[in-house]
Amino acid sequence: MKKTLGALFLALCLFLFVNANLTVPVLMYHHVGAVSDRSSTNVSVETFERQMEYLKVHRMRVMSLEDFLGHIRLGQGLSWNTVVITFDDGNLDNLTNALPILKRMGFPATIFMITGNIGKDGWLSAEDLRVLDASGIAIGSHTANHVFLPKLKKAEAVLELRQSRNVLEKILGHPVFLFSYPAGGVTEALEALVAREGYHGAVTTNYGCSRNDLYALRRLKITERDGNLFSFFAKVSGLYSLGRRTVDIA
Ligand SMILES: [Zn+2]
Repeated sequence: MKKTLGALFLALCLFLFVNANLTVPVLMYHHVGAVSDRSSTNVSVETFERQMEYLKVHRMRVMSLEDFLGHIRLGQGLSWNTVVITFDDGNLDNLTNALPILKRMGFPATIFMITGNIGKDGWLSAEDLRVLDASGIAIGSHTANHVFLPKLKKAEAVLELRQSRNVLEKILGHPVFLFSYPAGGVTEALEALVAREGYHGAVTTNYGCSRNDLYALRRLKITERDGNLFSFFAKVSGLYSLGRRTVDIA
Protein backbone atom coordinates (compact mmCIF):
# COMPACT_ATOMS: atom_id res chain seq x y z
CA MET A 1 0.00 0.00 0.00
CA LYS A 2 2.78 2.37 1.04
CA LYS A 3 4.69 1.51 -2.14
CA THR A 4 1.64 2.15 -4.34
CA LEU A 5 1.04 5.50 -2.69
CA GLY A 6 4.70 6.39 -3.13
CA ALA A 7 4.60 5.48 -6.81
CA LEU A 8 1.40 7.47 -7.29
CA PHE A 9 2.95 10.47 -5.57
CA LEU A 10 6.03 10.24 -7.78
CA ALA A 11 3.89 9.95 -10.91
CA LEU A 12 1.87 13.00 -9.81
CA CYS A 13 5.07 15.02 -9.20
CA LEU A 14 6.41 14.02 -12.61
CA PHE A 15 3.13 14.94 -14.29
CA LEU A 16 3.05 18.33 -12.54
CA PHE A 17 6.69 19.02 -13.45
CA VAL A 18 6.22 18.15 -17.11
CA ASN A 19 2.93 20.02 -17.29
CA ALA A 20 4.40 23.15 -15.72
CA ASN A 21 7.43 23.11 -18.00
CA LEU A 22 5.98 22.07 -21.35
CA THR A 23 5.49 25.29 -23.24
CA VAL A 24 4.71 26.23 -26.80
CA PRO A 25 7.77 25.89 -29.05
CA VAL A 26 8.39 28.82 -31.37
CA LEU A 27 10.58 27.44 -34.15
CA MET A 28 13.26 29.66 -35.69
CA TYR A 29 14.37 29.04 -39.27
CA HIS A 30 16.68 31.11 -41.50
CA HIS A 31 17.54 29.72 -44.94
CA VAL A 32 15.55 26.92 -46.55
CA GLY A 33 17.79 25.74 -49.35
CA ALA A 34 21.27 24.50 -50.13
CA VAL A 35 23.14 23.31 -47.05
CA SER A 36 26.87 23.85 -47.19
CA ASP A 37 27.67 23.44 -43.51
CA ARG A 38 25.74 21.15 -41.17
CA SER A 39 26.29 23.49 -38.25
CA SER A 40 24.91 26.48 -40.10
CA THR A 41 21.40 27.79 -39.71
CA ASN A 42 20.27 26.39 -43.06
CA VAL A 43 17.87 23.54 -43.58
CA SER A 44 17.58 21.80 -46.92
CA VAL A 45 14.26 21.89 -48.78
CA GLU A 46 13.92 18.11 -48.23
CA THR A 47 14.46 18.43 -44.48
CA PHE A 48 12.05 21.35 -44.21
CA GLU A 49 9.42 19.42 -46.14
CA ARG A 50 9.90 16.35 -43.93
CA GLN A 51 9.59 18.46 -40.79
CA MET A 52 6.39 20.12 -42.01
CA GLU A 53 4.99 16.71 -42.94
CA TYR A 54 5.85 15.52 -39.44
CA LEU A 55 3.78 18.37 -37.97
CA LYS A 56 0.90 17.55 -40.32
CA VAL A 57 0.93 13.79 -39.76
CA HIS A 58 1.10 14.21 -35.98
CA ARG A 59 -1.72 16.74 -36.07
CA MET A 60 0.32 19.49 -34.45
CA ARG A 61 -1.61 22.74 -34.14
CA VAL A 62 0.46 25.27 -36.08
CA MET A 63 -0.57 28.70 -34.82
CA SER A 64 0.39 32.14 -36.10
CA LEU A 65 2.67 34.16 -33.82
CA GLU A 66 0.02 36.90 -33.55
CA ASP A 67 -2.58 34.35 -32.35
CA PHE A 68 -0.08 32.88 -29.91
CA LEU A 69 0.58 36.35 -28.47
CA GLY A 70 -3.17 36.87 -28.17
CA HIS A 71 -3.49 33.68 -26.13
CA ILE A 72 -0.66 34.73 -23.82
CA ARG A 73 -2.19 38.16 -23.36
CA LEU A 74 -5.54 36.67 -22.38
CA GLY A 75 -3.90 34.05 -20.19
CA GLN A 76 -5.57 31.29 -22.18
CA GLY A 77 -4.17 27.80 -22.01
CA LEU A 78 -3.01 26.11 -25.19
CA SER A 79 -3.09 22.47 -26.15
CA TRP A 80 0.19 20.56 -25.72
CA ASN A 81 0.58 20.13 -29.49
CA THR A 82 0.68 23.84 -30.40
CA VAL A 83 3.70 25.08 -32.36
CA VAL A 84 4.66 28.41 -33.99
CA ILE A 85 6.86 28.79 -37.11
CA THR A 86 9.14 31.81 -37.73
CA PHE A 87 11.94 32.77 -40.14
CA ASP A 88 14.61 35.41 -39.52
CA ASP A 89 16.33 37.78 -41.95
CA GLY A 90 14.10 37.56 -45.07
CA ASN A 91 16.06 35.35 -47.43
CA LEU A 92 14.60 34.91 -50.93
CA ASP A 93 14.43 31.12 -50.43
CA ASN A 94 11.69 31.69 -47.86
CA LEU A 95 9.47 32.58 -50.84
CA THR A 96 10.82 30.18 -53.44
CA ASN A 97 11.37 27.11 -51.22
CA ALA A 98 9.43 27.43 -47.96
CA LEU A 99 6.21 29.11 -49.10
CA PRO A 100 5.04 26.34 -51.49
CA ILE A 101 5.44 23.75 -48.69
CA LEU A 102 3.75 25.93 -46.05
CA LYS A 103 0.88 26.61 -48.48
CA ARG A 104 0.43 22.92 -49.22
CA MET A 105 0.29 22.13 -45.50
CA GLY A 106 -1.93 25.14 -44.75
CA PHE A 107 0.49 26.39 -42.06
CA PRO A 108 0.81 30.04 -41.01
CA ALA A 109 4.28 31.48 -40.32
CA THR A 110 6.04 34.78 -39.69
CA ILE A 111 9.05 36.15 -41.58
CA PHE A 112 11.17 38.82 -39.88
CA MET A 113 12.67 41.04 -42.58
CA ILE A 114 15.86 43.10 -42.39
CA THR A 115 14.36 46.02 -44.25
CA GLY A 116 17.72 47.41 -45.43
CA ASN A 117 18.08 44.25 -47.52
CA ILE A 118 14.72 44.45 -49.30
CA GLY A 119 15.20 43.91 -53.05
CA LYS A 120 18.91 43.09 -52.81
CA ASP A 121 20.26 39.98 -54.51
CA GLY A 122 19.21 36.87 -52.58
CA TRP A 123 16.74 38.76 -50.39
CA LEU A 124 12.99 39.27 -50.55
CA SER A 125 11.76 42.20 -52.63
CA ALA A 126 8.82 44.50 -51.85
CA GLU A 127 6.67 42.53 -54.30
CA ASP A 128 7.77 39.23 -52.68
CA LEU A 129 6.71 40.56 -49.28
CA ARG A 130 3.28 41.46 -50.67
CA VAL A 131 2.92 37.97 -52.16
CA LEU A 132 3.86 36.35 -48.83
CA ASP A 133 1.54 38.67 -46.91
CA ALA A 134 -1.34 37.77 -49.24
CA SER A 135 -0.54 34.06 -48.71
CA GLY A 136 -1.08 34.23 -44.95
CA ILE A 137 2.56 34.70 -43.97
CA ALA A 138 2.94 37.54 -41.47
CA ILE A 139 5.82 39.95 -42.04
CA GLY A 140 7.58 41.37 -39.00
CA SER A 141 10.57 43.66 -38.50
CA HIS A 142 14.11 42.45 -37.86
CA THR A 143 15.39 46.08 -37.79
CA ALA A 144 16.64 48.06 -40.78
CA ASN A 145 20.33 47.10 -40.54
CA HIS A 146 20.48 43.90 -38.45
CA VAL A 147 22.30 45.67 -35.65
CA PHE A 148 22.90 44.39 -32.13
CA LEU A 149 20.48 46.74 -30.38
CA PRO A 150 22.02 46.71 -26.86
CA LYS A 151 25.08 48.44 -28.36
CA LEU A 152 23.09 51.37 -29.74
CA LYS A 153 22.13 54.63 -28.10
CA LYS A 154 18.44 54.78 -27.28
CA ALA A 155 17.66 57.22 -30.10
CA GLU A 156 19.43 54.98 -32.61
CA ALA A 157 17.52 51.93 -31.39
CA VAL A 158 14.24 53.83 -31.73
CA LEU A 159 15.19 54.69 -35.31
CA GLU A 160 15.86 51.01 -36.13
CA LEU A 161 12.49 50.01 -34.68
CA ARG A 162 10.56 52.82 -36.41
CA GLN A 163 12.24 52.94 -39.80
CA SER A 164 11.95 49.21 -40.41
CA ARG A 165 8.33 49.20 -39.39
CA ASN A 166 7.47 52.23 -41.54
CA VAL A 167 9.09 50.64 -44.59
CA LEU A 168 7.14 47.40 -44.13
CA GLU A 169 3.85 49.19 -43.49
CA LYS A 170 4.29 51.26 -46.63
CA ILE A 171 4.96 48.13 -48.70
CA LEU A 172 2.15 46.04 -47.19
CA GLY A 173 -0.42 48.79 -46.74
CA HIS A 174 -1.33 47.72 -43.20
CA PRO A 175 0.15 47.91 -39.68
CA VAL A 176 3.04 45.66 -38.66
CA PHE A 177 3.09 44.41 -35.08
CA LEU A 178 5.82 41.79 -34.74
CA PHE A 179 9.52 42.21 -34.01
CA SER A 180 12.62 40.00 -33.80
CA TYR A 181 15.82 41.13 -32.04
CA PRO A 182 18.91 40.61 -34.25
CA ALA A 183 21.25 38.02 -32.67
CA GLY A 184 18.88 37.87 -29.71
CA GLY A 185 20.15 41.25 -28.47
CA VAL A 186 17.59 42.19 -25.85
CA THR A 187 17.57 43.99 -22.51
CA GLU A 188 14.70 44.98 -20.24
CA ALA A 189 15.00 48.56 -21.48
CA LEU A 190 14.74 47.37 -25.10
CA GLU A 191 11.68 45.26 -24.29
CA ALA A 192 10.01 48.37 -22.90
CA LEU A 193 11.05 50.36 -25.97
CA VAL A 194 9.66 47.77 -28.39
CA ALA A 195 6.38 47.81 -26.45
CA ARG A 196 6.28 51.61 -26.43
CA GLU A 197 6.84 51.69 -30.19
CA GLY A 198 3.56 49.81 -30.57
CA TYR A 199 4.72 46.29 -31.37
CA HIS A 200 2.48 43.52 -30.01
CA GLY A 201 5.33 41.18 -29.20
CA ALA A 202 8.92 40.24 -29.95
CA VAL A 203 11.04 37.13 -30.26
CA THR A 204 14.66 36.51 -29.27
CA THR A 205 17.09 33.86 -30.44
CA ASN A 206 17.51 32.66 -26.85
CA TYR A 207 16.94 28.95 -26.57
CA GLY A 208 13.86 27.47 -25.05
CA CYS A 209 10.18 28.17 -24.66
CA SER A 210 8.55 30.86 -22.58
CA ARG A 211 4.98 31.31 -21.52
CA ASN A 212 4.58 34.89 -20.58
CA ASP A 213 7.23 37.25 -21.79
CA LEU A 214 5.47 38.93 -24.71
CA TYR A 215 8.52 41.02 -25.60
CA ALA A 216 11.22 38.36 -25.23
CA LEU A 217 9.76 35.10 -26.48
CA ARG A 218 12.37 32.39 -26.68
CA ARG A 219 12.72 30.25 -29.76
CA LEU A 220 14.18 26.94 -30.82
CA LYS A 221 16.72 27.12 -33.61
CA ILE A 222 16.03 24.50 -36.26
CA THR A 223 18.99 23.42 -38.38
CA GLU A 224 19.88 20.61 -40.74
CA ARG A 225 20.84 18.56 -37.68
CA ASP A 226 17.12 18.40 -36.96
CA GLY A 227 16.75 16.47 -40.22
CA ASN A 228 16.89 13.62 -37.73
CA LEU A 229 13.20 13.50 -36.89
CA PHE A 230 13.78 12.42 -33.30
CA SER A 231 15.68 15.65 -32.61
CA PHE A 232 12.88 17.59 -34.34
CA PHE A 233 10.27 15.70 -32.32
CA ALA A 234 12.11 16.57 -29.08
CA LYS A 235 12.01 20.25 -30.01
CA VAL A 236 8.42 20.52 -31.22
CA SER A 237 7.07 18.42 -28.37
CA GLY A 238 8.69 20.79 -25.85
CA LEU A 239 10.66 17.89 -24.33
CA TYR A 240 13.93 19.45 -25.49
CA SER A 241 13.26 22.53 -23.37
CA LEU A 242 12.27 20.70 -20.20
CA GLY A 243 14.46 21.91 -17.37
CA ARG A 244 16.47 24.20 -19.67
CA ARG A 245 16.91 27.55 -18.07
CA THR A 246 20.16 28.68 -19.66
CA VAL A 247 20.30 31.61 -22.03
CA ASP A 248 22.10 30.74 -25.22
CA ILE A 249 22.44 33.55 -27.73
CA ALA A 250 22.81 32.18 -31.25
ZN1 LIG B 1 18.97 37.76 -37.99
